[in-house]
Amino acid sequence: MLPYSGSFDQNFFSVNCFKKWQKLWNNGNIGRSVHKILKTVHLKPAFWTLEEILFVTGHGPFPSFLNSFHLSDNDSCTCGEVGDPIHYATACPLTLSWHIRKPSTSLESLWYQGVLENPN
Ligand SMILES: [Zn+2]
Repeated sequence: MLPYSGSFDQNFFSVNCFKKWQKLWNNGNIGRSVHKILKTVHLKPAFWTLEEILFVTGHGPFPSFLNSFHLSDNDSCTCGEVGDPIHYATACPLTLSWHIRKPSTSLESLWYQGVLENPN
């Protein structure tokens, strides 16, 4: 018979909680734009600036966000496309001088990380 080990029980509990949390995070319906960047759950905070949070989450003065809370009649930019952060950063003719290259779907996660690490 093994002696009682509180640390073993704590580690077992902790590992199972993280596994369950990771599974919920991977299969959830909310926070999908953040999941593209932060794929693994952990207790360390992500130190993002306000602008980075707005860009990644889309929670800001964007037609797409305002429309999701029925604060706007539609989700369109003035140019007619869906007005979300990626549109303004990559495609909108009204923000042409600030454009960055749009990522391919397979590289979207790396693209977001590169954007967040770029001080400009
Ligand atoms: Zn536009």
